[in-house]
Amino acid sequence: MRVIFLGAPGAGKGTQAVRLAERLRIPHLSTGDMLRAAVAAKTPIGNKAKEVIDRGDLVSDDIVLGIIADRCEEADAQAGFILDGFPRTVAQAEGLDSLLKNKNMKLDAVIEFQVDESKLVGRIVKRAEEMASRGEQVRKDDNPEVFKTRLDAYRVQTAPLSAHYAEKGMLRTVDGMQPIDQVTEAVREILGR
Ligand code: AMP
Repeated sequence: MRVIFLGAPGAGKGTQAVRLAERLRIPHLSTGDMLRAAVAAKTPIGNKAKEVIDRGDLVSDDIVLGIIADRCEEADAQAGFILDGFPRTVAQAEGLDSLLKNKNMKLDAVIEFQVDESKLVGRIVKRAEEMASRGEQVRKDDNPEVFKTRLDAYRVQTAPLSAHYAEKGMLRTVDGMQPIDQVTEAVREILGR
């Protein structure tokens, strides 16, 4: 099964992707996680992306498309995957379309998590506090200032993807403001598993 999770930063895509990946035994592909790993490892891509991520802007389409193209080649991705945080621009969606076409692969669903944007900053602040209390390193971009830029990037560059997938008849939506378990249930219902 190949699924895309769409939604604003803080909408709960990552939380739900972890759950679904465990249940379906397919990898959870988060370009944000992959980019942060590249930054931590100080790879050439990581070094290039660091500043962009820290200020809340989007990394170039070429970089993320390259990362996803490589990741999709790996053995564990052959049975399917959940894309979280990718695609984030129409160019990325088109790149993904042709990537999948070349591999004779099809998307099964695109699920958009709809949320009340005014509640998102609070979620982000809470996530930062929870990570700190677990002794984990808090994401530099999980602060109200940078969050504004991330939300702007979402509105301008990513929100148009809903229309892209709606036109293809693939877009499904869930109410991301429900409690986590109910969101999981809604995702299960859409996917039928
Ligand atoms: P995330 O963990 O999905 O919130 O992503 C964190 C940051 O990584 C974003 O604010 C972007 O700077 C970068 N990023 C992640 N995925 C993408 C993508 N598909 N396209 C461009 N930039 C991305």
